[in-house]
Amino acid sequence: MFRLLALHAHPDDESSKGAATVAGYVDAGVRAVLVTATGGEAGDILNPAMDRPEIAANLVAVRHSELQEAAAIIGYHKVIMLGYRDSGMPDSEDNERADAFTNADDEEVLERLVTIVRDEKPHVILGYDSHERYPHPDHLAVHRHGLELFTAAADGDRFPNAGEPWAAAKMYAPVRSVNRMVKIHQAMLERGEESPYAEWIERIDPDADVGKRITAVDISATISRGRDALRAHRTQVDPDGFWFRVPEEVVLASYPYEDFELLAARVPVEPRESDLFDGIALG
Ligand SMILES: [Zn+2]
Repeated sequence: MFRLLALHAHPDDESSKGAATVAGYVDAGVRAVLVTATGGEAGDILNPAMDRPEIAANLVAVRHSELQEAAAIIGYHKVIMLGYRDSGMPDSEDNERADAFTNADDEEVLERLVTIVRDEKPHVILGYDSHERYPHPDHLAVHRHGLELFTAAADGDRFPNAGEPWAAAKMYAPVRSVNRMVKIHQAMLERGEESPYAEWIERIDPDADVGKRITAVDISATISRGRDALRAHRTQVDPDGFWFRVPEEVVLASYPYEDFELLAARVPVEPRESDLFDGIALG
């Protein structure tokens, strides 16, 4: 069967970026492995119901168990935590710490990722795009390491002690396309409701996705699981907050897809595909 490996920066990123898609692939028999770089140590408690001293005092353990719960809902077969420390937002003090992911030695991080890829042999790797709209240092690091990983894991001259080279076929980043935001925004307005994307729509360049190769994967069957996984991150996600302002039925009626930008490929990719594993031969 096909295999997928997803790289993420923090606990909760696996649930806010492409979770329903991964759940759908797991249902179809794909083996899915999650790699999470940090423990989310610098995260604030963003759900008022969870903002209690005993939770704040144990945030690392709480976030760890939230991640395990969310990964189980999505159906990941394996969760690998790299154990780096959350770097916090740009200019925060967390950024200065030697154990912050953003300060980790590039070659060390890459060798660990190469070892995982050569071991798991994924056909598709999920990484991050350039994150212009959310320049969190850990997300930028996942972007940088991911692109390098795709090349290095396949190159026998790099990290010869990290296993047999493995050439993944394609690499994508989960993204939110302009198309998606506009469709959902319009659907909310048509229902006479406030759109959480109103401000975003005003600022966005309507041509921001021009020239990108974006694949929309149908998530009609698994959208609830994606949302349940996100809800499992109780400290990070307010069930009455931004992420859930658009009702599930509105997403289903207006844009029942998750978007993935193609970052790299070793197989021909059709201009319009609907499946991240399109064009890949098993063998
Ligand atoms: Zn994150």
